Amino acid sequence: MTKFSVLTLFPQMVRDALCVSIIGRSQKKGIIDVKCYDIRDYSNDKHKRVDDAPYGGGKGMVMMADPIAKCFEDICKNSESKPLFIYMSPVGKKFTQEVVKELSKYKNIAILCGHYEGIDERVLDKFVDERISIGDYVLTGGEIPAMVLIDAVCRMIPGVLSDSECFEKESYYNNLLEHPHYTRPAVWRGMSVPEVLMSGNHGEIEKWRQEHSVIQTLKYRSDLIKE
Ligand code: SAM
Repeated sequence: MTKFSVLTLFPQMVRDALCVSIIGRSQKKGIIDVKCYDIRDYSNDKHKRVDDAPYGGGKGMVMMADPIAKCFEDICKNSESKPLFIYMSPVGKKFTQEVVKELSKYKNIAILCGHYEGIDERVLDKFVDERISIGDYVLTGGEIPAMVLIDAVCRMIPGVLSDSECFEKESYYNNLLEHPHYTRPAVWRGMSVPEVLMSGNHGEIEKWRQEHSVIQTLKYRSDLIKE
């Protein structure tokens, strides 16, 4: 079983999104386990405050180090092995299918979601192993990035998808985009499905798919071919 622990100020948001569809079913089957930890539960403040004004002044609030440290230490205490600790951050390395492949080897991952201006750097320096960004833009919080990471990594865990071919032939796995797909009806609004896909000739179908995988990549992401 692969374990994901999410440290967040909005546990319900992550729980609700990950209890349905393929990820929800994989949790029920015991292939993965996603637990959400409310950072606020680890605040010593009587009002459960977890943020304060930034040193040096400026707008916005900064999440305090101590509740996050206590939350992570609690997760570690209740784990057989130390989790790989990831901070979702626009400052991190870019999340790609290569990173997904790498992360899918880990059995125990903890993910820290920031909010407001960010997090006191000292707790990040002390505990975080990796900072990962889902793209060059800024979101309001780390919850959606954490869900993106969990979803992408889970798809590569044996048993989550029906067959490893499901991801091995998909976009980005081999630095190519996937070929186009078609389903019934054979003619829709005057547009026909490519003849070869209805021929039953599996060799020709495979050839068409490989060719169109390259064509799609050249058309939409020629930078991948250069890479
Ligand atoms: N002040 C920060 C900066 O300029 O880098 C942005 C903070 S952002 C408003 C709040 C939180 O959202 C971050 O701590 C991080 O956890 C999350 N976040 C925002 N954009 C992200 C991205 N592209 N990838 C991963 N996490 C992101």
